[in-house]
Amino acid sequence: RVEISDVTKSYGTNTVLRDVSLTIAPGEVVALIGPSGSGKSTLLRTINHLETVDRGSITLDGQYIGYEERGGKLHELREAEILRRRTQFGLVFQNFNLFPHLTAIENVVEAPVALKRLTKPEARELAKALLARVGLADKVDHYPRQLSGGQQQRVAIARALALSPKVLLFDEPTSALDPELVGEVLDVIRGLARDGTTLIVVTHEIGFAREVADRVVFLDGGEIVEQGTPIQVLRSPKQQRTRDFLAKVL
Ligand code: ATP
Ligand code: MG
Repeated sequence: RVEISDVTKSYGTNTVLRDVSLTIAPGEVVALIGPSGSGKSTLLRTINHLETVDRGSITLDGQYIGYEERGGKLHELREAEILRRRTQFGLVFQNFNLFPHLTAIENVVEAPVALKRLTKPEARELAKALLARVGLADKVDHYPRQLSGGQQQRVAIARALALSPKVLLFDEPTSALDPELVGEVLDVIRGLARDGTTLIVVTHEIGFAREVADRVVFLDGGEIVEQGTPIQVLRSPKQQRTRDFLAKVL
């Protein structure tokens, strides 16, 4: 369970998140929507402590990623421990960010071996299974440049799964893709949702949010303006700001 409580974050004088509170239950699929600059990526990055917050707290199953509590106070953890805790999240970006000099399978094998979670043969077995799961069984030895954008993004998803994260975070996973490649990536994410993976997806794909999300959260100006089931938020929004946004994107 991810618990975000009263999180506020500023860059200089620009307040990017204002008193954001959100709880994500195991197995839940949350779609984060909102205009450009509303703080969606920043919120995602605070969840796994790639960004720190100014006020408020974020925990995963009751544990901070960047801190430990001692004597009623928060103490910053060492970098190595933060990295270890952060592996409980898998992160998939807009631009795939694969290692260009590694094949698909090597990209997936890298983290579990580097972190000494698995031996190389074990990691290769797992990577093969994960690449098959995202529909790339026949592409394991291809380099990123030999793959389409949709295929690269599916490798990135397999790589994110390789450390068995508790939660997967997606930041606009399809927005860099040609339209005809969007579907294959959304299909993979849909499959993860069906398998009970906890997902937080920043997306411009309102149709996808409607169909796959358990909950839609609308962020505007760093605030959660409205949240609820897809039907509540997307079909009968209560707030004018939500209506204005949906009128633009639908
Ligand atoms: P988009 O849909 O365009 O990706 P977003 O909702 O993801 O937008 P964020 O990237 O979270 O928005 O940015 C929110 C605000 O924070 C913006 O005003 C942005 O300029 C600012 N911002 C984000 N990252 C930084 C940074 N590292 N330093 C300073 N300002 C930042
Ligand atoms: Mg963003």
